[in-house]
Amino acid sequence: MELQKVKLSNTEFTLWEVEFTIYKSYDKKTFTAEQAKEHFISLSDNLEPYDFEDDSEDDYWYLTTDFCYYACDGGHGGNIINDCLNAISDDGIKMDQLDYEYKWNKLDISHDHEYIPMALSTYGNDLKLEEGFIIGECLAEFIDNCSCKNCK
Ligand SMILES: [Zn+2]
Repeated sequence: MELQKVKLSNTEFTLWEVEFTIYKSYDKKTFTAEQAKEHFISLSDNLEPYDFEDDSEDDYWYLTTDFCYYACDGGHGGNIINDCLNAISDDGIKMDQLDYEYKWNKLDISHDHEYIPMALSTYGNDLKLEEGFIIGECLAEFIDNCSCKNCK
């Protein structure tokens, strides 16, 4: 297997930060505050919910927290949410049992270099960054002229 290797600054590599907010409500008839918190933590792979108020008017506990994932692509942003959701699921957060919202923004790779390895792992395909070069079997997402066997 031949690896392609291109200087990162010569690619369209785009780094994205995706912030997820997860929510779940718990019926006070069924869950004590402590039980709701324990259940939330069991779904969120140990992410602590923010403090939640006991508003006695309300029949539910509302638990929420947020976290960021990092993704990358050639700049179109079309797959970044799916890539993140797959990585989140691999990490053990049960998004199918939570409500969630997300927002994303483009990061500047010269300032936010430290997030690139996380973004590459979200992207998958065994890409890596070494000494300013991006290395992988196929780099077609990031460059116009990938010369791997599938692109040639
Ligand atoms: Zn290729």
